[in-house]
Amino acid sequence: MEETVWARDHTEGFVLGKITELLDDEAEVTPLESRYPKRILPFSDIFRAYVEKDKDYDDNCEMMFLNEASLLHNIRNRYYKNKIYSYVANILIAVNPYKEILSLYSPETIKSYRGKSLGEKPPHVFAIADKAHRDMRVLKQSQSIIVSGESGAGKTESTKHLLKFLCDSWGADSGPIEQKILDANPVLEAFGNAKTTRNNNSSRFGKFIEVHFDKNFKVAGGHISHYLLEKSRICSPQGDERSYHIFYMMMAGAPEGLRQQLGLTKPDDYNYLKSACTRYFTTSASEKKLSTVQKSADQSKQGQLRDILLDDIEDFLALDQALSRLGMSDGERLQIYVTVAAVLHLGNIEFEDNPEDTRGGCRVATSKERSLLMAAKLLEIDPSELRQALVARVMQSSRGGLKGTVIMVPLKIYEANNARDALAKAIYSNLFDYIVNRINQSIPFQTSSYYIGVLDIAGFEFFTVNSFEQFCINYCNEKLQQFFNERILKYEQELYKREGLNVPEITFVDNQDCIDVIETKNKGILTLLDEESKLPKPSYTHFTEEVHKTWSKEYRLGLPRSSKLKAHRSLRDDEGFLVRHFAGAVCYQTKHFIDKNNDALHASLEGIIQDSKNKLIQTLFSTSVAQKGKLTFISVGNKFKTQLAELMEKLRSNGTNFIRCVKPNNKMIDQQFDGSLSLMQLKCSGMTTVLELMEHGFPSRTPFADLHAMYKDYLPNELKVLSPKTFCEAMFHSLKLQDKDFKFGVTRVFFRPGKFAEFDKIMRSD
Ligand code: ATP
Ligand code: MG
Repeated sequence: MEETVWARDHTEGFVLGKITELLDDEAEVTPLESRYPKRILPFSDIFRAYVEKDKDYDDNCEMMFLNEASLLHNIRNRYYKNKIYSYVANILIAVNPYKEILSLYSPETIKSYRGKSLGEKPPHVFAIADKAHRDMRVLKQSQSIIVSGESGAGKTESTKHLLKFLCDSWGADSGPIEQKILDANPVLEAFGNAKTTRNNNSSRFGKFIEVHFDKNFKVAGGHISHYLLEKSRICSPQGDERSYHIFYMMMAGAPEGLRQQLGLTKPDDYNYLKSACTRYFTTSASEKKLSTVQKSADQSKQGQLRDILLDDIEDFLALDQALSRLGMSDGERLQIYVTVAAVLHLGNIEFEDNPEDTRGGCRVATSKERSLLMAAKLLEIDPSELRQALVARVMQSSRGGLKGTVIMVPLKIYEANNARDALAKAIYSNLFDYIVNRINQSIPFQTSSYYIGVLDIAGFEFFTVNSFEQFCINYCNEKLQQFFNERILKYEQELYKREGLNVPEITFVDNQDCIDVIETKNKGILTLLDEESKLPKPSYTHFTEEVHKTWSKEYRLGLPRSSKLKAHRSLRDDEGFLVRHFAGAVCYQTKHFIDKNNDALHASLEGIIQDSKNKLIQTLFSTSVAQKGKLTFISVGNKFKTQLAELMEKLRSNGTNFIRCVKPNNKMIDQQFDGSLSLMQLKCSGMTTVLELMEHGFPSRTPFADLHAMYKDYLPNELKVLSPKTFCEAMFHSLKLQDKDFKFGVTRVFFRPGKFAEFDKIMRSD
């Protein structure tokens, strides 16, 4: 009978079939199921298959053939059985079930994973958390858990389960420090998460949460570092997306008195919140409360997930309580809400042409005076100064006799809009920084011996239009991918060496060249961008040309596809450059790179905001006085580069654990596994490469003692008394196993892919 194979398929990823004709470097495959058409495929799209009905594997490396097709098959097969977790050696793959799986995270489950070696129990995030803690104790080394995956894949949910496991299992006996670590989450989510088309609760920032332990390995405190809050969302959420949850939560859940005080009505009344999405909010708060009750009733049904749109009311209460437990007084919480509301009122200030200004300037639209007064009142700044600072900027003249004199330059409407938005973004993002700082102050640690850090940061992204945000996040993912390669390969090779196996060195495609294009000193894209921003008249076309000029010979950098079609190579508005990342080529549109890379407010705005009488606003802008003041440019990219370097240094000095999250469909529903979508993610996260690597190595490894315990009952009595190692040697010898299929290490037997399963079968059938 012909062999069954996996044949590549556009929608399923792979389908089972038989090779019906061999051609030169291709073959014709006839799928087993007639609903799939016959196809001719290159050999690289055909993989050996070994499918046992209904069998699935906890560790993908136990499979007979290690290839992307069998990996996908095993993960899909398990997903439909509610087994969302599996391993590839020590790496955990987690598929988002989009439903609650009964008792998967219950206190009993937490208990059952405590102190168990990886592999002893079914794969789970708890097993990874437990391993991290054990490695920390045994190896006396801090640990990192890197959680990655695309938007909606389940990184943040996994992070929460990891933290819960660590805090529940090793919470200190004294003090509520672990409650505070857990409380940080609803707070961070309120201010840093939003509903997007890909995820109803999407984190729009990256974070590295460290749980610190004392010398007895009990929780002693924590620390949160955060990266790249998405600022564009504050002023302009796109299409069906929302801005940050906090705005809607306050609108729906803040007490009536507070809403009146802050002038809050409904999301539709604010420019910054107006989008297709606000139709959900035209209902009054009391109607919403009714639907919340209805929702609670629905939710008691097994499997129902939270509905972000309806949870705003409860979430506000939960947030307020969490802030309070984190040590923020009534007054401080009020100031936070005041600041959030001020951002919305600022957003409602609109401008119109000023007929009295001969230089084409603008003024605050008369109909929007109330918004201006409200924003000024909440920010405790002088309304006329705010008005002035929004429509004109102060500049020092550089011309002739007037050199050094301060002059007022009136702004055009679009410039005033930009100034207003820049102010709103600065206030909100400084508030976010402040909140993270306050959380850190409330989880201090005096006596940290080691920590376990969990990294929850966006995975590789490519959309129809990619801008500076995607550029930064993909840069970060290049660095993380490099680290992943280093760690996984290094770990494997060290283990082989330690165990005395004679396995040749494994090489891999290094992506250092791509990282260089982005971050090299003097000429990396980030530097070119900073240099452009410092010019008197920065222009994105000039910046883009510089990028091409500097890097055109480098394989990693290319022209955007559409440019190639044109005879002359001048850039269009929507063009920029293309980077060939490890996970695929991405075209970046450079139009907004320069403004998105700049964190500085223009001097007049900076000045008035620093003069605010409001204590919180003063604090938000105080750290910047020294450096900002007169500066017109503060590089976002450079700050991120520095933060990333610090993060990488931490990761490099720690032990590492990887969790790769997979989003099985784009509809955010349960019970639907989109093969090609999932396969793409497994490829982007490097999992298929690891599997390939394992195919050439010895992915299954079992200690002698375990083999002895597993099989002693299948063998004659005289063999049982042997030491585990001798027992194994005798057993392997008597089975006449081919020695290319396994190797004896110092403490364990290593098997070639699939050979352990074969061996197990022989043993049990004998
Ligand atoms: P983003 O990058 O957008 O922040 P993410 O990877 O952090 O995405 P999550 O917010 O963790 O994604 O998950 C998205 C949603 O998927 C959750 O709100 C939840 O509804 C569901 N989900 C994720 N993981 C699980 C799980 N283990 N069990 C049940 N539901 C889950
Ligand atoms: Mg998230």
